Amino acid sequence: MIKTTLPCYGITLSMSAIDFGSRGSIACSSDLYSTCSSCGGRNCLYQCDGSHIGEDVQGEEEVSGRLQYNGAVDGILSMILAHAVAGIDVESPAYLEGIETAMEAAGENL
Ligand SMILES: [Zn+2]
Repeated sequence: MIKTTLPCYGITLSMSAIDFGSRGSIACSSDLYSTCSSCGGRNCLYQCDGSHIGEDVQGEEEVSGRLQYNGAVDGILSMILAHAVAGIDVESPAYLEGIETAMEAAGENL
């Protein structure tokens, strides 16, 4: 198992070896995701106890924005993982700067 934590946004990459018919596994996680203020779930649509949309239209917009932002984070993390698997040095200062720029753009545009 190879596990790397990048020095930005708490991004952690983990990869297990691919051998003897095993497909191995790769995963990427981060503390970047926006979560429900009530239950902490990133995909919660205000369905948990302690939160609900009710008549609050602004709540619906907040949930929609959170889901869009988390989708952008998923895409960026998938790209980082694919680059790491392809052999690109995702820990280089230039690459880390690129991650920060992409994350800032996701936060500003969604
Ligand atoms: Zn919730």
